[in-house]
Amino acid sequence: MPNYTFRCPGCGEFTLFFNSMSGNRENTECPTCKSEAARVYFAPHLFTLSRKLSSKIEKGMEPQRMTRDELGAKQKQTKVKANRPWQVG
Ligand SMILES: [Zn+2]
Repeated sequence: MPNYTFRCPGCGEFTLFFNSMSGNRENTECPTCKSEAARVYFAPHLFTLSRKLSSKIEKGMEPQRMTRDELGAKQKQTKVKANRPWQVG
């Protein structure tokens, strides 16, 4: 289930869960005070370590999306080795 984090100027960050991609938008209404809340994009250099960790825990699937390229590169290297076991040793 996709979830998106927004930041209300009055209430702070909140995360909404959606059944589809309908939540993938720049702004939404704060569920608490009904003011406009801007989408929060997770750029690691903008956050402290504790914020990054708490965001990862809250958002669950997000860290996997951020590291997919790195995982793909590692898997590719592993696969090459596994396909040529006769070259190892
Ligand atoms: Zn609010």
